[in-house]
This record gives sequence, C-alpha cells and structure tokens, in this order.
Amino acid sequence: MPIRFGVLGHPVAHSLSPQMQEAAFAHEKISARYGRFEIPPDELRDALRLMGELGFGGANLTVPHKVAALDLVESTDANARRAGAVNTVIFDNGKSRGFNTDGTGFSRAIAEEFDRGLRDLQVLVLGAGGAARAIAAQCLEDGVSHLAVWNRTAARALEMRAQLLGYYETAPIEIIESTPDALSASVARADLIINATSVGLRSDDPPLISRAAFTNRHFVYDTIYRPSRTRLLEEAAAAGAATANGLSMLLHQGAAAFTLWTSRPAPLDVMRDALRRAASA
Ligand code: NDP
Repeated sequence: MPIRFGVLGHPVAHSLSPQMQEAAFAHEKISARYGRFEIPPDELRDALRLMGELGFGGANLTVPHKVAALDLVESTDANARRAGAVNTVIFDNGKSRGFNTDGTGFSRAIAEEFDRGLRDLQVLVLGAGGAARAIAAQCLEDGVSHLAVWNRTAARALEMRAQLLGYYETAPIEIIESTPDALSASVARADLIINATSVGLRSDDPPLISRAAFTNRHFVYDTIYRPSRTRLLEEAAAAGAATANGLSMLLHQGAAAFTLWTSRPAPLDVMRDALRRAASA
C-alpha cells in the first residue's frame, strides 16, 4: 500500500498519529498508509513541495513546524490564521492548503471529558507556545467569559495576546505575572485550568500549581498524554478537581484531520481504541 499521508516533525518518533490514522484508514477501507517523517526545520519547505508533487493526500505537522508552515502553504483557513499555526495540510493537484484542527479538537475534548462547553467559563491557560495559541484562540471563539494566560516568559504571553486581539478586538484576555502569588490568585478565579506547557513531560517535573490551590470545583486539563497522569493532574485530583489528559485532544484533532482529507466522518471509536493501545504500549 502506498504511503499517502504522514506526520512531519523533529523529533517525530514519539508521534501516535500513525497508529490512530492507519486504524481509521483500515476501518474505512481506504488503501493508504500514514508515515512518520523526520524533517529538520530547514527541509520543511522542500518536504511539503515534494509531498504535493508525489501525489500525497495530506500531512500533519508537529513540533517544531506548526508556525513555520503558515508561510509555506498556498492558502490557510481561519483557524490556522487565528492560531498562527498549521497542523494539517491537504495536497490538492499539487497545491497545499493549511488548516488547524488543534483548537476544535481541544473544544471537543473538553465537551467529552467534562460534559460541558467552554462558553462562559473563566479559563486559565498555562503556556504561550503553539498548543497554547490554538487553545486560547478556540476559547475566545467559543465565548469564554475570561481568559487568563500565564507563561514562564511573559513577553511571549504578551505577544500572543496582541495577536489574538487582532482577531478578537474586545477579548477579555489577562496576562498573569510570572510569579507564584499571581498564579495562585488566578487559579482561585478560574473554572477551567489548562496546562499547555511541556512541564510534566518528564515524570519528575514539579507541577506548576500545587494541591493547596485546587478545589473540587475546578476542571483541570493537561495537554500532555504521556505520562497519562502528570503531577499536575495528580495534585488537582487529590484536591477533588475533575481532571483529564491530552489524549482526547489528540484524538479529536486527528479525527478532524481525517475528515478534511477524506470528506468522511471519522470512525472515532476505532481511532480512540488505537490511540489508547498505542499510548499504553
Ligand atoms: P512549544 O515549544 O511551542 O511551547 C512550550 C511551552 O512550554 C512554552 O509556553 C514554554 O514557555 C513552556 N515551558 C517549557 N519549559 C518550561 C518550564 N521549565 N517551565 C515553565 N514553562 C515551560 O510547544 P507546544 O505548544 O507545541 O507543546 C506544549 C505542550 O502541549 C507539550 O507538552 C505537548 O506535548 C502538548 N501538546 C499536546 C497536544 C495534544 O493533542 N494533546 C497537541 C500539541 C501539543 P516559554 O515560552 O517560557 O519557553
């Protein structure tokens, strides 16, 4: 079977997208394989051009390519422009079109995990990188009542705020000072807290927020899915908060990408099972 789809990253070996997408292709009897491509940043332009020339159907982009790809595809959808990043590409008669499904994937993940939408929630996002941007833009799109952003490097959070205000002029975005006290105060105000930093990828990473700050009325979502329970989720759960990890966001961004490539509804249960198996392997 020909490889007609794939994920481009650097590094890329950790990606679970091949297992999830190939399970969906097999279920839908689509005769194509989905590969992993280790592409350094200076080769991204050529890789995208070649994939178009070779008749690929589509691609996903992961770290560190999402932002750079915005200027390398021929057109972009509104989600990609708002997030300032592309995570899904369609190749169509040699032309490349860029999309971002991370935000909608996140929104569906919250609905599924916590049985409620983002509308009218007070949200605290930790991080100002690619994932945080897609999440913050989606929070505004879905009508949160207040969006607080905390980032280790405050300048990056300010830059993200400026970019979002270009799309949502009167958006209620507050940048939280990078001090522990300011972070604790914003946790007290938030309904939903999202970790979109890489803190927690290593199981010995100390959590950015400690147990004492959480209560049983908090919803806490960690975009990290490996390990399946970060210290942040453990601390939050111990305080009685509702918690979920990033596997559901990965699933729903992948399902949306599948639909963009094939114009078919994604076989969600098949993709979820494949992901769970791959994540626990
Ligand atoms: P980026 O490299 O773009 O951003 C990394 C973020 O983590 C920045 O905000 C950075 O802050 C922060 N950070 C890194 N180290 C530290 C530290 N020691 N202390 C505090 N903050 C730190 O990465 P992405 O946005 O692509 O990924 C972020 C996370 O989201 C990752 O854990 C990734 O696994 C997850 N993710 C999950 C997805 C899913 O589908 N579930 C999809 C995409 C990402 P600073 O600006 O100060 O450097």
